[in-house]
Amino acid sequence: EKLDKGLEKTKDSFFTKLGKAVAGKSKVDDEVLDELEEILISSDVGVDTMVKIIERIEDRVARDKYLNASELDTILKEEVAGLLAENNYEELQGFTVPQDKKPYVIMVVGVNGVGKTTTIGKLASRFKASGNKVLLGAADTFRAAAVDQLIMWSERVDVDIVSHGMNTDPASVAFDTVKKGVEGNYDVVIIDTAGRLHTKVNLMNELSKIKRVMQKFIDEAPHEVLLVLDGSTGQNAFIQAKEFTKATEVTSLAITKLDGTAKGGVVIGISDQFQIPVKYIGVGEKVEDLQVFNRMEFVDSFFN
Ligand code: GDP
Repeated sequence: EKLDKGLEKTKDSFFTKLGKAVAGKSKVDDEVLDELEEILISSDVGVDTMVKIIERIEDRVARDKYLNASELDTILKEEVAGLLAENNYEELQGFTVPQDKKPYVIMVVGVNGVGKTTTIGKLASRFKASGNKVLLGAADTFRAAAVDQLIMWSERVDVDIVSHGMNTDPASVAFDTVKKGVEGNYDVVIIDTAGRLHTKVNLMNELSKIKRVMQKFIDEAPHEVLLVLDGSTGQNAFIQAKEFTKATEVTSLAITKLDGTAKGGVVIGISDQFQIPVKYIGVGEKVEDLQVFNRMEFVDSFFN
């Protein structure tokens, strides 16, 4: 229900437009496909993914010779869900971490303003609610506000935090955080990193340095590199995904601000093009406004 509410804007616009495209039509013809193409583009799935979806629908039309216009939404859902990277929904929902991977280290990356800090706060709250001992690391030391906000979140959800303040060495914060995580028997360690894209080389160097110091304590750390993207920024989110996947090995995605956008198609396009699972979506500013991403549910809300 919350997802439906969160995606209302996306949903209304797609449904209304698709309804108009097939109104008075009995079969899916070129005109309907042209309309669909436009709707997909305006919903921000990106050109590559749009072309892929249209081709799949064309294949279905060709295979069956005839495709009933009223079936278009069902078939769209099937085809689009098939494009999205699998994310282990059942397991994620539990907010537990494997016994042999404790502390489970999540390094969070993304540019400023996308909702990185908020997402970390929400995740800390969920992991804590599932019985985990959670530690945060304020390694986004470039902005004073980032450190302060993370401290605020740690107080709000009542979890521990390692912070050295602004303009300190991010790698040294990461070092101390993982050290404390191991020595203090924490279950989950979540480390915020600087969201600067000023130069690719700097970003790459900074992130690999942070990784290297973590590995002094845990060989396979970080267990997860979570990229946070703002779902309302359309093509910017694609550009950021491209930059960050070049700079480091991104293993999962969180897409925020889907409550305020008609452009939820970003989720589909990015998941398809980068084949990185979307684990979480943000549907509001409050601590409870984080959802584990469910492919089928999302596609249902998107096209209904
Ligand atoms: P950061 O700079 O990436 O750490 O971004 P913040 O976490 O500070 O978030 C920037 C702004 O976006 C804040 O005003 C947040 O309340 C807001 N925000 C974050 N996630 C969401 C979301 O899912 N929905 C909405 N509507 N706002 C969000």
